[in-house]
Amino acid sequence: MTPRVGVLALQGDTREHLAALREAGAEAATVRRPAELSSVDALVIPGGESTAMSHLLREFDLLEPLRARLADGMPAYGSCAGMILLATDIADAGVAGREALPLRGIDMTVRRNAFGRQVDSFEEDIEFDGLEGSVHAVFIRAPWVERVGPGVEVLARAAGHPVAVRQGQMLATAFHPEVTGDHRVHRLFVESL
Ligand code: GLN
Repeated sequence: MTPRVGVLALQGDTREHLAALREAGAEAATVRRPAELSSVDALVIPGGESTAMSHLLREFDLLEPLRARLADGMPAYGSCAGMILLATDIADAGVAGREALPLRGIDMTVRRNAFGRQVDSFEEDIEFDGLEGSVHAVFIRAPWVERVGPGVEVLARAAGHPVAVRQGQMLATAFHPEVTGDHRVHRLFVESL
């Protein structure tokens, strides 16, 4: 059966993810309300700004429903800000009251803006476990992973730091595969559903 995959559409780059998911064989839909969250089999959390997205998750009454679905095993893929939100612990989460809130999907600690500020955004061809050849990775004020729990596989590294991880059907990348036209990471996720 074709999986129905939601893209959290509160803020950030949702359009490219919807296109990549459709190309990977999924039915894709935006998620902004609890009822829409209930209607999907899996969820993509896009890049953007994790502090703003956390604020909006609260405003839209999605924070606890989303935590509950993840705790219940709903597969999820987070890119950049999405990786930050999928963590159990966030380093440098931001100012108290406006900080990025962990959704606790993947047992890991992620450091926000780890590679530096916007000017430090960069692109690099990296090896990615399970994908042939290299992946052109675009990092934009990207996080890196500082700690992974025992059930978490590191699939790719940049500058020595994990930048792609998987725990069961939860996947996260510090970079933005949706902007390159190479949809293999989305396919990896959709094919795991
Ligand atoms: N620095 C952003 C954050 O903290 C992430 C940037 C991105 O998603 N491209 O959420």
